[in-house]
Amino acid sequence: MDRRVEIFCPKCRWEPQQEDRWVCRPGCGHEWNTFDTWGVCPDCGKKFDWTDCLSCGARSPHAEWYHHFGRDPVREKVRQFDTA
Ligand SMILES: [Zn+2]
Ligand SMILES: [Zn+2]
Repeated sequence: MDRRVEIFCPKCRWEPQQEDRWVCRPGCGHEWNTFDTWGVCPDCGKKFDWTDCLSCGARSPHAEWYHHFGRDPVREKVRQFDTA
């Protein structure tokens, strides 16, 4: 995995592991690691814009799970203040 991008829950910072599974629901019931496919069910192709945290249970937009580091330090700082 590209280490410039880290994946963790934006609410509790829980980091999903390779063996963690999400269920396509409502959908086909397929189980897979949603971060392997950017939230797209590999079985039926349904796209999930929201992803449940398996640790704290909070639902966050899938894109917010991806955290980019080392690209734009100033903007990262501003964002930290915004969300603090
Ligand atoms: Zn599915
Ligand atoms: Zn969480």
